[in-house]
Amino acid sequence: MLHYRTVPVTAFAQNCSIVWCGATRDAAVIDPGGDLARIEEEVQALGVKLKAIWLTHAHIDHAGGTAELSARRGLPIVGPHPGDQFWIDGIAEQGRMFGFPQVAPFTPTRWLHDGDTVQIGQCVLDVRHCPGHTPGHVVFHSRQAQRAFVGDVLFAGSIGRTDFPGGNHAQLISSIRERLWPMGDDTVFIPGHGPESSFGEERRHNPYVRG
Ligand SMILES: [Zn+2]
Ligand SMILES: [Zn+2]
Repeated sequence: MLHYRTVPVTAFAQNCSIVWCGATRDAAVIDPGGDLARIEEEVQALGVKLKAIWLTHAHIDHAGGTAELSARRGLPIVGPHPGDQFWIDGIAEQGRMFGFPQVAPFTPTRWLHDGDTVQIGQCVLDVRHCPGHTPGHVVFHSRQAQRAFVGDVLFAGSIGRTDFPGGNHAQLISSIRERLWPMGDDTVFIPGHGPESSFGEERRHNPYVRG
């Protein structure tokens, strides 16, 4: 069974999630944007074995700690989709703009595409490509646990911004309707910022995408 613990990191209170397999205690960290000491502390406290970094997209608050954590722990970098290459190339500049200390670019060990799966221990998650907030945004879905890690695609009561380079509002709306809603009303999602919610709740009440 998949377990997870969410750790808000950076000045953007980005929801970095540590996910692990209950049977093997192998773990992946989703979106290590920064505050690596906090993440490492949590990994230690949970007693899990960190095996990989998974990225939803390459904005600084989600990917800023990737190069350093990967180098420090020898971890493969999985994701995002190649559409975010330009964000990775510009990550040092993003860092300077938003006051992040010394952020290095990186090369994903494995790019992700729609329909791929990722595995940690005995837990397999489906990958869906959900462009709109960024062109290469992906989400991770555990059917078994009925959980989805959606980055900045959808929030409780809101949706991701689309006013950055490569953003596309219409594309974001179809990503949500065509790729998130089919995961089911009961699926709980962990957004990149703010509290969790379920797809059913958002489908009924979120003013940007309801109905
Ligand atoms: Zn973002
Ligand atoms: Zn974000």
